[in-house]
Amino acid sequence: MVNKNDEFKLNITGYTSEGGGVGRFDGQAIFVENTAVGDEILCHIIKAKKTYAVGKIAKMIKPSKSRIEPECEAFKMCGGCSFAHITYEEELKLKAQKVEDAFQRIGGLSPEFEEIISSPEITRYRNKAQYPVRRENGILNIGFYAKKSHRVIDGGDCLLQPVEFTKIIEIFRKWINENNITVYSETTNIGLLRHIYLRKAFATGEIMVCAVINGKALPESEKLIEKLKEIQGFKTLVVNINKEKTNVVLGNECEAIYGEGYIEDILCGVKIKISPLSFYQVNRAGAEILYKKAAEYAEAKGNVLDLYCGTGTIGLSLAKNVDSLIGVEIIPEAIEDAKINAKLNGIENARFICGDASEAAKKLSEENIKVNTIILDPPRKGCAEDLLKTVTEMNPERIVYVSCDPATLARDCARLDAFGYKAEKVTPVDMFPRTAHVESVCLLKRTFNN
Ligand code: SAH
Repeated sequence: MVNKNDEFKLNITGYTSEGGGVGRFDGQAIFVENTAVGDEILCHIIKAKKTYAVGKIAKMIKPSKSRIEPECEAFKMCGGCSFAHITYEEELKLKAQKVEDAFQRIGGLSPEFEEIISSPEITRYRNKAQYPVRRENGILNIGFYAKKSHRVIDGGDCLLQPVEFTKIIEIFRKWINENNITVYSETTNIGLLRHIYLRKAFATGEIMVCAVINGKALPESEKLIEKLKEIQGFKTLVVNINKEKTNVVLGNECEAIYGEGYIEDILCGVKIKISPLSFYQVNRAGAEILYKKAAEYAEAKGNVLDLYCGTGTIGLSLAKNVDSLIGVEIIPEAIEDAKINAKLNGIENARFICGDASEAAKKLSEENIKVNTIILDPPRKGCAEDLLKTVTEMNPERIVYVSCDPATLARDCARLDAFGYKAEKVTPVDMFPRTAHVESVCLLKRTFNN
């Protein structure tokens, strides 16, 4: 049994799903942040529980061969990156392993695992950031939440974000100070500016700036706009109203106070309109690779149903090769964007339904709509079980499941297996370098005759 303040030699042998290091001592799992597989450390226990313990590095005895010096000064405090301290090769290896482990342990499945596809860019690949704005002891912090906390550490120049974002944050900082703009406090629910939310369309260079406020209007906005105009690509300033006592970043109400309130990108050759509330993959170059793989698995022909379609990106990238496309998505603004995207690209064989995926699928199934391929791309929690059943009752030849959480993907593939669809191939795609997240795409085929 390990106790608090114990110190002993520990070899790090694995990673948790959040990216922390793990070793074993006395039959117990010991979790140590910021370690790498292969590290030999002197471990100091800071928390001891019955079945596990948490330690910190008291001394590095022998560092792992895969260790590198993190380029970011905020790495140890910031909750954003998990792997800035190991080589990218090692990161890819452990992410591929994470996907395989999920399929085998959670799903009890052994599909063919194709090689993990790396991200075209490892730094500055993100096209979206939400910076909390807080004041602590009089000091204004605009940045990111510290690990497992809501304390804001000043972001500095985050290496995952485009350089323009850092410049925009500095413009806000000056504007807040010079105009006495109040900033939000999570404890009192008082103060105006909550978050600065930025998006960049990499193919066109267009930038959207969104101020999330606990109030009705942004004071002194003219002064802010004048400064933002100095940023190349700045296209629109949007105010998003969020007066709730919640840690959900965005409210439902948006108002463009400069420009059109949206930006446009190009993805897989398709023009995409992006509004503040619509989902859009954060790594555009990675998304092109992911969608290409999804298209290869879909071998799309006939009729395609794209569930959880967002602004229609995956379906629209296939639309030219198929007879018909139906997209389903719950956010009204995203569905409006999807319809416009179809029009912008001269795609006439697509229609989009706003609603819950389970309910829409049930309706389509009752209408006896014939589909050859179904695409699933749900949020992290995966698909509702009744949706998986409905989807299989629609008898598609193929299901292509795109997922940002290997655990729920594996769980859902096991459920689909019970309904007669076998997971044949999986490709992990690293859409989120340096963080603990990994995307995967899985091909499932019908095993019964229609
Ligand atoms: N396929 C899109 C979006 C994937 S993200 C793309 O690649 O860009 C998941 C999407 O599912 C989000 O747009 C989210 O708004 C939507 N969503 C979440 N819950 C849903 C539900 N119950 N029914 C339909 N769509 C849902």
